[in-house]
Amino acid sequence: MKNLYDCHVHLNMAQFDHFRDTLIEECSRSLDFCINVGYDEKSSEESLLLAFKYPFIRAAAGLHPSYASQSEPRLMDRISAFLLEDEVVALGEIGLDYYWMKDPPDIQKKIFADQMEIAAHHKKPVIIHDRESHEDTIEILKAFKGRVRGVLHSFSGDRKMADTVLDMGYYLSFSGPVTFQNKKNIPFREMISSLPPDKILIETDSPYLAPVPFRGKTNTPLNVSYVAGELSSLLKMDLQEFLALSRAGACDLFGF
Ligand SMILES: [Zn+2]
Repeated sequence: MKNLYDCHVHLNMAQFDHFRDTLIEECSRSLDFCINVGYDEKSSEESLLLAFKYPFIRAAAGLHPSYASQSEPRLMDRISAFLLEDEVVALGEIGLDYYWMKDPPDIQKKIFADQMEIAAHHKKPVIIHDRESHEDTIEILKAFKGRVRGVLHSFSGDRKMADTVLDMGYYLSFSGPVTFQNKKNIPFREMISSLPPDKILIETDSPYLAPVPFRGKTNTPLNVSYVAGELSSLLKMDLQEFLALSRAGACDLFGF
């Protein structure tokens, strides 16, 4: 499939240990590019190593809110250093997570804002994780309006939030949950059908969030075609036309 890509994967994770190389070989034949996203120091380093090894993989480096308590000044310097590498196309994933709430909001917000400052300094886009923390996420994005761009990954907000962040130049990316047909998901799917298609990116968040018909299984970037297919049908667009627009958006954001 032409123009297929995956802007959010974690191929470094242990779930892939027994088949990582063969999976990545297969992905390199099916996808134009994948972005392997870090969530702490070790995974950021592993993302970079994957990007060194495989030309179609790019990396993102950052400290996920569930690992915020690991933060120390040395770690912020390390993240800055990662961003100097050509293979590191974004700072992420960063943001807030009030679902798991591993650390109090104040600590999460400080680490998030510190990393937004680093992204502004390096002029690199950010990959945002926002789980049940929409209002505080918007507040921090607004504080950096015009200085930082990025993508809200596995976007879970409503139309009003979508408009707010689209206005600030952000993209929205969607993963497996767009394929879930349960009743609770109807408003979410309706909201997507009215979004501007050129602002929608595609991802799997592998190994998590497998789309139908693989729900509950280990997800792989190969399944991004199910996400793209569902999005194009929600948007009432031809799949190839949607993929061309979406890929152009990803290339614009990540600078390649
Ligand atoms: Zn992720």
